[in-house]
Amino acid sequence: MALIVQKFGGTSVADAEKIRAAARRAIRAQQQGAQVVMVVSAMGHQTDYLVDLAGQVCDDPPAREMDMLLSTGEQVSVALMAMAIHSLGAKAVSLTGAQIGIRTDSSHTKARIKSISTDRIRRLLDEGNIVIAAGFQGIDEDFNITTLGRGGSDTTAVALAAVLGADECEIYTDVDGVFTTDPRLVAEARKMSRVSHDEMLELASLGAGVMHSRSIEFGKKFNVPIHVRNSGVFTDEPGSIIGNQPESMDRVVSGCALTKNEARIDVAGVPDKPGASLAIFSKLAAMKVPVDMIAQDVGYGGVADMSFTVLESDLPQALVAVKEAAKEIGASSVSSNSGVSKVSVVGLGMAKQSGVADRMFRALAESNINIEAITTSDIKVSVLVKREKGVEALRAVHGEFELEKPPGERVAYTHPTGGASVADALAVVRRLQAMEDLTIHGVSLDESQCRVTLFDVPDRPGISADVFEAVAAENIVVDMIVQGVGADGLASLSFTAPQRDFAKSRQVVEELAKEYGGEIAAQPQVAILTVNGVGIRSHTGVGIRLFKALAEAGINVEMVSTSEMKVNVVVNHEQAAAGLAALKSAFADVGN
Ligand code: ADP
Ligand code: ASP
Ligand code: MG
Repeated sequence: MALIVQKFGGTSVADAEKIRAAARRAIRAQQQGAQVVMVVSAMGHQTDYLVDLAGQVCDDPPAREMDMLLSTGEQVSVALMAMAIHSLGAKAVSLTGAQIGIRTDSSHTKARIKSISTDRIRRLLDEGNIVIAAGFQGIDEDFNITTLGRGGSDTTAVALAAVLGADECEIYTDVDGVFTTDPRLVAEARKMSRVSHDEMLELASLGAGVMHSRSIEFGKKFNVPIHVRNSGVFTDEPGSIIGNQPESMDRVVSGCALTKNEARIDVAGVPDKPGASLAIFSKLAAMKVPVDMIAQDVGYGGVADMSFTVLESDLPQALVAVKEAAKEIGASSVSSNSGVSKVSVVGLGMAKQSGVADRMFRALAESNINIEAITTSDIKVSVLVKREKGVEALRAVHGEFELEKPPGERVAYTHPTGGASVADALAVVRRLQAMEDLTIHGVSLDESQCRVTLFDVPDRPGISADVFEAVAAENIVVDMIVQGVGADGLASLSFTAPQRDFAKSRQVVEELAKEYGGEIAAQPQVAILTVNGVGIRSHTGVGIRLFKALAEAGINVEMVSTSEMKVNVVVNHEQAAAGLAALKSAFADVGN
């Protein structure tokens, strides 16, 4: 018998009529012969309301009590949903996270799922019930109620679909599916028929709020097909399938996203020696603050400038951690700027393709938008811009890549890692102590790249576009790009490229340096060490393990880029083999 999981988000259960409509949908699926598990969020803006209320009685509410409070929202909706189903003549039982046996760790307000027991759900389903599970919540070892982080009901739904081996996980929401970008920000955004797990993982963590990014980690690890669709009563249109296949491989960019509320932290005068990054990032990881867009100047004069972004809501905590670390390592100053937003483009087709970064940068320059930082991974390019320019930047980029137009004929594509089969997935479940544990696929070394850096150039629109257009005009395929702005207000920009293009790359940048008055540094060979897996960024500990292993081996990290699936670091070529060995042993226990 088919089993389906149907998840209804807050707006889809916002009032009695909507609850009844959702109930009818579940009953219809049951009448068509499926066993149905519903996952339900709190009604409408109830969670926001509760967060606000907590803020009114306490400046800094204890996280445990916050979870106790927030979990009530979902408890209300599961009970009402069960009543609605009863009134329509079908059988239903509502269950809280604790009653289902969703075990999590104890990190209140951002807990991770460790295990889910399925016995009770299966028994209730076999008795003919629709099972209604409260989204977003679980319990820890001591029976404390925990929550999975805002938007976490998606993760409950996909995790339940994974453990139950569901045939499909339907996510009912207030839009028709996954769009090329948020349709509320860009009217031209287009619904995608499908999107690959890898792209969705990036898009979700870069601001596409339609799915909780951790739900996609489950989707990818356990090969759960996810169908995002509209809960509207009159629509029965197919939505978007998040699965192994992208919509098309003939497009380099599939979608773009905006993270509005980012903050940048700059640390100046960081001693350019092994262990400095570790000191900073381990303090942040201890507070579970995810870090992104790490840009580190190639150090000269023995010190380097480092900058990175955190969510604005994490800034106060992050500053405490970074100031402490700066003192320890003897960095000269720490400053921050909270008025920035991150705009990213994502696409499986951009891996090893030229002509994405330069087009994006040119589109922004033409809209007179300055880029404050750049980072790339193989399937995304992110830039940081002033917050008041965020939406305009998103629109410019969406237009530049013509995302409003449907792609041409789709080319079948299977991800190189092959997408785990269900049997593999079950083996993974058995092997993993905790379902949401980090999965590392491997550690690798790429010795094929050189690096060119342009530093001390003015920070103004168009320079990155000029550099990457000139580079692309020489047919040089750039791999990693990192751009940051130092404490002196001057920008620096580094990229790696194949060694055979070293002379050309250096020459192109030298010419531009003359024009802008900047300096250049160039290494004919660098080593890029990569750790890849699933959920790399949301597991803040991965970067730390990597920095620690390298620092202990006396290896300096010269450039860093992170994505959901990878952390790349550039190190001195002479230390390549030692670096690889250090990382292999550091990640030996997590499936490497
Ligand atoms: P729910 O309450 O159903 O979980 P959410 O508000 O969490 O709904 O997610 C749906 C919202 O996500 C949409 O209303 C839309 O504004 C926003 N969104 C952001 N990016 C995208 C995107 N790429 N595609 C579709 N919706 C998006
Ligand atoms: N109710 C929770 C929230 O608003 C969880 C969810 O809706 O997914 O964040
Ligand atoms: Mg949501």
